[in-house]
Amino acid sequence: MEINRIQTNDIPQIIKNRKSRDAIQYDGIDDRVKTIVQAIRQDGDKAVKHYIHQLDGVHLTNYIVTQAEIAEAYHSVSEDMIEVLNEANANIKNYHAKQKETSWYSADAQGVWLGQQVTPIERVGVYVPGGKAAYPSTVLMNIMPAVVAGVSDIIVTTPVQADGTINPMTLVAADLAGASQILKVGGAHGVATLAYGTETVQAVDKIVGPGNAYVARAKKYVFGDVGIDMIAGPSEVCVIADETAEPAYVAADLIAQAEHDELASAVAVTTSESIASAIQLEVEAQMKQRDRQAILQESIQQQGGIYVVSDLETAMKFVNAWAPEHLELQIAEPFEWLPHVKHAGAIFLGHYTPEPLGDYFAGPNHTLPTNGTAKFSSPLGVYDFMKKSSVIYYTENALNQVRHQVERFADEEGLDGHRESVRIRFND
Ligand code: NAD
Repeated sequence: MEINRIQTNDIPQIIKNRKSRDAIQYDGIDDRVKTIVQAIRQDGDKAVKHYIHQLDGVHLTNYIVTQAEIAEAYHSVSEDMIEVLNEANANIKNYHAKQKETSWYSADAQGVWLGQQVTPIERVGVYVPGGKAAYPSTVLMNIMPAVVAGVSDIIVTTPVQADGTINPMTLVAADLAGASQILKVGGAHGVATLAYGTETVQAVDKIVGPGNAYVARAKKYVFGDVGIDMIAGPSEVCVIADETAEPAYVAADLIAQAEHDELASAVAVTTSESIASAIQLEVEAQMKQRDRQAILQESIQQQGGIYVVSDLETAMKFVNAWAPEHLELQIAEPFEWLPHVKHAGAIFLGHYTPEPLGDYFAGPNHTLPTNGTAKFSSPLGVYDFMKKSSVIYYTENALNQVRHQVERFADEEGLDGHRESVRIRFND
């Protein structure tokens, strides 16, 4: 991991280079996704089963998980893990309950009553990745905000395994969190099944959840017919370390991020030359002891970096230019510096708040804006599963007070039907 000494005017170029890692070509994938989605839209269940067979290698007559399969899954998951899942679920639920917005109404003396009615989305699809590993934390993080919002139907879809089953941990987590139905369909075929429905599955209104390039591009393709949460890019962490930071902790957190995949980005920004060198040595030493050697080597060498800056003001300029998905402030006064952070997906304060705590357990959502999108978007939350309707009520007298202004607008816009809909109420 290289150490670079940088100044404020170096920051824009570093951030530009960082962003260019996302310049992946999707042309081949997009063509494939379009074919899959259109086939399912047209042929329903028949096409879903065809793609499950072709892409996941399994013949299924029914791709909806049964109650018996869920009951069986509980036997395969250890009791202590179920306890951990329940505890995490409670933390996630409590945190998200605070996000819930309520309807409001206000009346004035002139007989005008205005408001905003907040209602949950009715049917939500949650994509749970499952090609290469099981992600029970992702299951909880995507379902629980929908449950808190009051979504009535939460349909989970996840790839079927070679033996025709779903990973039991995924099933148990989905059931505990409150899924109404679970489908054994991965990839773009899973997204299409949720978006357009089939003879056996009713279409959803919105699709959330991460996945590989086929899933991400399929979500982008169906957007507009259904809502989506976001298109997540590779994961990132930026650790700000002052002279009080413990290099071993910083290194461990960089490695925890880098092990996600080759494109994951783990960067430390420090005000201390000696801390920079110590982090570099620690990363080298700790990496050798981790399992995912190939991924770590690639990610740390290609995407990692240690930057030495003159002061924390400059470190904050780096943070706000990047808008990282995860930000750790391993500094003496994290609360003092918190207000200086303008753009970050999740902010971890102090020396004892490692990012994996947030990934799994603390309660805030781990689905976060990546690739600089924290400049304009937020973590997945209850608000992603709710929508608003404006409410308007005028008495006859209140309408009479403003009728001329409304008629004036209608005349200006050349819409006499609009004008008459007001005028007719006063027999003019
Ligand atoms: P996945 O479930 O996203 O994809 C597997 C599905 O893709 C399978 O159904 C398979 O049939 C389909 N597929 C594979 N190759 C295909 C092809 N050539 N044509 C059409 N369909 C094809 O699982 P994955 O592949 O293991 O990827 C999971 C991704 O999700 C990883 O990138 C991981 O980093 C990411 N992830 C992100 C988070 C998060 O919170 N951001 C959490 C967990 C996982």
